[in-house]
Amino acid sequence: MKKLFAVLGDPIGHSMSPVMLNDILSFYVIDAHYHPFHVSRGDLETAVKGLKAIGISGFNITIPHKSAIIPFLDEIDELALSIGAVNTVVNENGKFVGYNTDGYGFIKGLEPYISSFTDKKVLVLGAGGAARAIYFTMAKMNPQTIDIANRTVIKAQELIESCPYETNSKALTLEEAEIHLHEYDVVIQTTMIGMYPNISEMPISLRNLSSQSLVCDIIYNPLETQLLIEARKKGATVQNGVEMFVYQGALAFEKWTGIFPDVKRMRENVLQQLGGVKC
Ligand code: NAP
Repeated sequence: MKKLFAVLGDPIGHSMSPVMLNDILSFYVIDAHYHPFHVSRGDLETAVKGLKAIGISGFNITIPHKSAIIPFLDEIDELALSIGAVNTVVNENGKFVGYNTDGYGFIKGLEPYISSFTDKKVLVLGAGGAARAIYFTMAKMNPQTIDIANRTVIKAQELIESCPYETNSKALTLEEAEIHLHEYDVVIQTTMIGMYPNISEMPISLRNLSSQSLVCDIIYNPLETQLLIEARKKGATVQNGVEMFVYQGALAFEKWTGIFPDVKRMRENVLQQLGGVKC
C-alpha cells in the first residue's frame, strides 16, 4: 500500500519540502507521497489524532507547531526534548516519536569545512528557535567556546542556562560581538535580519571579521545575504541556509526510510524552487 508522509504548518503554501521530498521518494522508487497540510493552532491535536488513525508513516512539523506538538506525541528523543521543539515525527509501530533534525542538519552541512569542533570558537547571532536547535546540537560536539549574541541579551543568557550539555559560553550584546568578531572561527547568523525584502540589512558590522572565518547565514532568501556578501569580500568562507534546509530534510528522510538520500539532488531541487522567488 502507498505510504503517506506530510508536513503540517500554518502557513504551509510556501514550503519547499513537498517538491523536494516527493522527488527524492520517486528517485528511490519508494511507493509513497509527501503532502502539505495547512493546520491552524487550534486544530493541531485533532490533526495529529487523524494522522495516527490513518497510519501515516511520518511527518514534518513547521512554524508555528514545532513546540506545540510535543504533548501530542508518544515519545520525544532526548535532544528534541531539551531543544523543546520537534520537526520530524516517525511512526514507530503505532507510536509517534518526535525528533529534531534542524541542528544536526545545520552541522552536517558544515562537513565539507569542519570535521571536529573541539578546537573551534563559535559565535551564534540570535537566540530564537533556530539558534536554540543549532546551539544545543553543537554543544554536544564540544566546541572550544560557543558564545551567543542577541539583540535581547537576556534571551541569549537564558538559552545558555537552559542547555543540558556542558558548554563554555557567554551571552553578548550585538555590539560586543562586533568588537570581538576576529576571535571566532565560525560565525552563525540565525536572526531574520537580511531576509527578503529587507535584503540590505545586517545584524552586525563585519569590520573585525577574520579572513580565516567560516560565516554561515541560515537564511536562504536571498541566497546570499548582505552579511555573506560582505564576509566574502573580507576573504571569509561563506555558506547560506540552503544546506541546513536540505540536510534537515535528508535526516528526516533517513529516519523514515533508512536511506540517507542524495543531498546533491535535493540541493539542486531546492535551488530550482528558489529560482522562482525574488532573491
Ligand atoms: P525566532 O525564533 O523568531 O528568532 C528570531 C531571532 O531574530 C531572535 O534572536 C531575535 O532577537 C532576532 N531578531 C528579530 N528581529 C531583529 C532585529 N530587528 N534586530 C536584531 N535581532 C532581531 O525565529 P527562528 O525560527 O529562529 O528563525 C530565524 C531565521 O532562521 C529566519 O530567517 C528563518 O527563515 C531562518 N531559518 C532557516 C532554516 C533553514 O533550514 N535554513 C530553518 C529555520 C529557520 P530578539 O530575541 O531580540 O527578539
